[in-house]
Amino acid sequence: MNIYNTYSKKTEEFVPLVKPEVKLYTCGPTVYGYATIGNFATFLMNDFLKRTLKYNDYTVTHIMNITDIGHLTSDADEGEDKIVKKAREENKTPEEIARYFEKQFMADFKKLNMDPAEAFPRATDHIKEMISLIEKLIESGHAYEKNGNVYFDISTYKEYGNLSGNKESMLKEEVRDEIVSDSNKKNPRDFVLWFKAPKDHLMQWDSPWSKGYPGWHVECSAMAEKYLGDEIDIHTGGEDNIFPHHECEIAQSECAYGKPFARYWMHRRHILVDGEKMSKSKGTVYTISDLEEKRFDPLLYRFFIFGTHYRSKAHFSFENLEKSKRGLQRITELIKKLQSITNDRGTNLEAMALLNKSENQFTEALNDDLNTPKALAVLYDLVRDVNSFIEQDKINKEEAEALLTLFRKFDLVLGVIFPYIEKSEKEIPNEIKNLAQEREEARKQKDFEKADELRREIQEKGFDVKDTKKGPGIFVL
Ligand SMILES: [Zn+2]
Repeated sequence: MNIYNTYSKKTEEFVPLVKPEVKLYTCGPTVYGYATIGNFATFLMNDFLKRTLKYNDYTVTHIMNITDIGHLTSDADEGEDKIVKKAREENKTPEEIARYFEKQFMADFKKLNMDPAEAFPRATDHIKEMISLIEKLIESGHAYEKNGNVYFDISTYKEYGNLSGNKESMLKEEVRDEIVSDSNKKNPRDFVLWFKAPKDHLMQWDSPWSKGYPGWHVECSAMAEKYLGDEIDIHTGGEDNIFPHHECEIAQSECAYGKPFARYWMHRRHILVDGEKMSKSKGTVYTISDLEEKRFDPLLYRFFIFGTHYRSKAHFSFENLEKSKRGLQRITELIKKLQSITNDRGTNLEAMALLNKSENQFTEALNDDLNTPKALAVLYDLVRDVNSFIEQDKINKEEAEALLTLFRKFDLVLGVIFPYIEKSEKEIPNEIKNLAQEREEARKQKDFEKADELRREIQEKGFDVKDTKKGPGIFVL
């Protein structure tokens, strides 16, 4: 399996530290609001990765943290804690805010059929671990305390900037603009490990330096070490995490434990909505509930993201989501046809050859730096070819079953086809089922006019009915 490593900027063969185990860490949500479809694009990439690893017989231990402290409104160590700010605005405690949005996040996570992490540790439950990590950094001369704050001294770590390319000598302009002058810092680029809290700050803990709270970056280093050890295989996140967050995680972990922190770094590129960056003022910062309100099952978003490569910008629009839906329906309709095949005529060698070829191509695409759009194209080609065999009556029961097994195998990674079918079937109201039954009666009596009229009625209600060999099948439009 090959993956593109943001650290080396090369596509590399994936070799875990201890085969077949893979230690995977993902920066989780900051729970001060609903996660957006942009956030979920990253988590979905991670899910496709995790499932591809399992598909290749690796065992995966996956940790995703929940940030409920320390993520400030600006990445440059200034501004207010996002959760504290929200709590103040809503007149609630930070804990109430964090738990509420964590619960919403978990509900969306489930709706997108993502494989749950082995643990979702909260930052506020790991203050002790963060303090001991900071102590290690001070002892080893990589961090210093000044007026109750603790800073990481980047001059002690010459690799700082390797991941993002933001080396001191060639600082990108946007980074230079973000640097805030803090007279406590030896170097303006040093970053905060521990903040001294103002007296009335809503979240603060005792520490050797001051009553305060940890910086955002230190939580991931501390929790990754606690749950996965001091060296991990793959670290994932969104491209906006590369700097400063991941750069800082690397500096902290490597200086504290003296080992390479993560061997592979993978980052999902931003998604675009209607061709632009998601924008609050344009009302395009969509959440999973927004999709549901427009009657799109969240699984369709999963399917849409699968159709885009994680290293290119996905072009989200409701029109494209609608296209994904039609694509998925082509697949689910074929599944229903295959399920209704009962004939036991002779073997079609062509069908068996197609089956093997498709399986190989699908696996190859995934193992080539998670090329999910290519894997999806293999699936669509298979659907087209099998449909043509069925039209020629060239698929017997045994072949149909082998094909269904193959689609189930693909769905171990895709995670959409069979959950979507199950959900669609469950959600068909009795009213629609009765109309479909009536239509079937009309057809039997050769009253095709009435049958067509009933079909139109069904379509108006957002469903459709199509004839399979087992009788009428109902689909969600
Ligand atoms: Zn992180």
